[in-house]
Amino acid sequence: MATYRLGVMYGDGIGPEVVQAAVEVLTTAAERLGTVKFNWVELPMGLSAIEKYGEAFPDITKKALKNCDGWILGPNDGAAYAKEHQGKRTPSGELRHSYDLYANIRPSKTLPGIRNVVGEADLVIVRENTEGFYTDKNMYVGNGEFMVTPETALSVGVFTKPAIERIAHAAFRFAMERRQHVTIVHKANVIKLGFGLFIKTCREVAEQYPQVKVDDYHVDAFAAQLVRRAGDFDVIVTENMFGDILSDLAAELVGGLGLAYSINASENQAMAQAVHGSAPDIAGKNVANPVGEMLSAVMLIDWLGTRHQDQSLHHLGQLVKTSILKALFDGVRTQDLGGDASTIQFTEAVVQRILRS
Ligand code: ATP
Ligand code: MG
Repeated sequence: MATYRLGVMYGDGIGPEVVQAAVEVLTTAAERLGTVKFNWVELPMGLSAIEKYGEAFPDITKKALKNCDGWILGPNDGAAYAKEHQGKRTPSGELRHSYDLYANIRPSKTLPGIRNVVGEADLVIVRENTEGFYTDKNMYVGNGEFMVTPETALSVGVFTKPAIERIAHAAFRFAMERRQHVTIVHKANVIKLGFGLFIKTCREVAEQYPQVKVDDYHVDAFAAQLVRRAGDFDVIVTENMFGDILSDLAAELVGGLGLAYSINASENQAMAQAVHGSAPDIAGKNVANPVGEMLSAVMLIDWLGTRHQDQSLHHLGQLVKTSILKALFDGVRTQDLGGDASTIQFTEAVVQRILRS
């Protein structure tokens, strides 16, 4: 039986609760199907790792990650790092950069029985994950920010052709497997050089995919169109910060941030990470919605299935996903979706549906 080593990093805030839930449903599905085995490798990461190892992303974690087939990551409390660990990247940022996980793929799809405000929609935001306006430790601009006088800050955006090319290819390849439509989101009317290069490069890459329909929007107009007619979009390719903002918007439009999922990927590594943050206001209360982290883990399993050409992984992912959707459809929901199930109760409901199917 094929065995996969999966690195698990719980992170901060609600991280331990939702990551535990994701691990539990995958383990249950693996036992139920008996075709795949997961070896879970728990790795210290986050504020709790600072207490124990003096660092949020300690060396033992960095080393161990190399021997894993995929990683499941909990959220980081960005505000705590900014306040108490000035100048340090969050582990999540560090992971994306050190391993060059350049594509953050964030689907938003309306779900049966879940209230949404846009009608039916099924779109994917492909967010460039290494440059744009989230720049730190860049070879040209260092941390990307400078105080040029005590009262003047410069925050630099970085746009490079190779980075735009690879994210554009990721978006177009994705579109080929979907509805063959890519929307480029930018702000080239104001940030003329950076987004000028972004759109020009995306258009050049588009020529290699003649079957794919291409359009482009300024980010402000796109935000409005997303609310008005989310159902018309398929794959959206955009810069780092725009992707971050638009994917929270898209997630809320189709049902809620607690449901939103993603992977960060390069050609040979992938990391599951829910779209939401560490939500310190509800941490440790057993009320967090684990669906975002669970579906992110499923996305990782699918990515592994494709990479290793292992159909049993796709089956397993499908089983977990269907069981999550069934639980939601049956009305088992956490508070953020208007229900009263706890994190543990929701997870148990998914486990039962995996076992019964
Ligand atoms: P970050 O900067 O890390 O992305 P953020 O400021 O975007 O963080 P989040 O932590 O994503 O904020 O959460 C915003 C609010 O949404 C939380 O305070 C919480 O109330 C709610 N929320 C987020 N995720 C969940 C979840 N999984 N279940 C329930 N509520 C959630
Ligand atoms: Mg956020």
